[in-house]
Amino acid sequence: MTKKKHIHKYRKTDIGAKKREYLVMQCAIPGCGHYLPHMNLAIGRESICWRCEDVFVLDSDHLAQVNPHCNNCKRTEDDARRAAVN
Ligand SMILES: [Zn+2]
Ligand SMILES: [Zn+2]
Repeated sequence: MTKKKHIHKYRKTDIGAKKREYLVMQCAIPGCGHYLPHMNLAIGRESICWRCEDVFVLDSDHLAQVNPHCNNCKRTEDDARRAAVN
């Protein structure tokens, strides 16, 4: 098996069977079968942002997102939401 090194693009995935939820952080890059068997293992790891494709470090806040994106994108999103409300 050839291993091409890349920064994983983590995505929250439920790999549980029969309605038993089992959430892992899985790499979404085609051909990469990497995943972390526990969500907490993702904290402090580099991942690719789903919005801007920049590299960022995952923290516990990112784990609440299905497709984690970096704090820069999160800020933009919050601003947009606030603007939409007002
Ligand atoms: Zn990967
Ligand atoms: Zn981003």
